[in-house]
Amino acid sequence: MSKDILEKIKSDFEKGLQEAGNDLGKLEELRIKFLSRKSELNQLLKGIKDLSSEEKKEFGSLANQTRKEVETKLMDLIEEIQQRKDLEKDWIDVTAPGKKEAIGHLNLLSKVQREIEDIFTSMSFEIADGPEIENEWYNFDALNIPKNHPARDLWDTFWIKNKNKKGEKLLVRTHTSNAQVRYMEKHKPPFQVIVPGKAYRYEATDAHHEHSFCQFEALVVGDSVSVANFKSIAQEFFSAFFGEKIEIRLRPSYFPFTEPSFEFDISCKVCQGKGCPTCGHTGWLEMGGCGMVNQRVFESAGYEKNKYQGFAWGFGIERLAMMKHQVGDIRNFRSGDLRFIRQF
Ligand SMILES: [Zn+2]
Repeated sequence: MSKDILEKIKSDFEKGLQEAGNDLGKLEELRIKFLSRKSELNQLLKGIKDLSSEEKKEFGSLANQTRKEVETKLMDLIEEIQQRKDLEKDWIDVTAPGKKEAIGHLNLLSKVQREIEDIFTSMSFEIADGPEIENEWYNFDALNIPKNHPARDLWDTFWIKNKNKKGEKLLVRTHTSNAQVRYMEKHKPPFQVIVPGKAYRYEATDAHHEHSFCQFEALVVGDSVSVANFKSIAQEFFSAFFGEKIEIRLRPSYFPFTEPSFEFDISCKVCQGKGCPTCGHTGWLEMGGCGMVNQRVFESAGYEKNKYQGFAWGFGIERLAMMKHQVGDIRNFRSGDLRFIRQF
């Protein structure tokens, strides 16, 4: 073995370095050629142990030094190039024109829900919440809709496969009325509260029906709450919501949780009650159901029978939004169609 071999390796390496320039791929090839286990240099180093002790001393240290030089030079260069590349990647051109960020806004339904909440809050109503996944008791039984009651068919229900820990059947609430007894269990009358939220029905969809929709429930309970109270509150609410004077009309109806029960209409805001195609020339628009709270519902909440009176009333937030903003199809709200959403 001689020093010449080492000199040759060194000069080959220098030549390789020049050829590779800043090319990381080529530098990696150099690394394999000069530093890998099978490289000529490492083979030489391996052979040192078979040399005489004299040779070992002289050649060994020289070979080790060469390897160290090659390694330091190559690895430093690779690191430097890599760092330069990273810097280039992070470089920001402060003079480039900015990219416009797309800014979202509240969905029309959220806006209308907030409007409704604001109006009721101004009439000193409280806003409460109820769970969307509910058991049969709060959604049906507590509201005087026991099993096998024909009225249960009025609510086509999405049942949930799994029962809860108590073994109760679960469903997604068919109305926000599930919050009535939940609220009454925790509050003593008098109170007035609204419960806005989502509800679900297992039914076919069309321009006026959706399987998922928003509702709100209004519940007013006290010692001497009457139908007249309902009429005046409803009138005030609708007039504030539509920004014009609205009349209320009640028609007898049936709901298990109210007695007596009514459907209520509001005066047509298109023709102001004179009659037009929107209201089918009746001058009235159907709004929803309401009634005096059935005493059985108070009993479900643990209230003493006939001690309190109250009224409950609920309807769809989509319907209100459709009327106020001339939306023709309820399915638009959840279509995800930005052309629709951006209009409001
Ligand atoms: Zn009309």
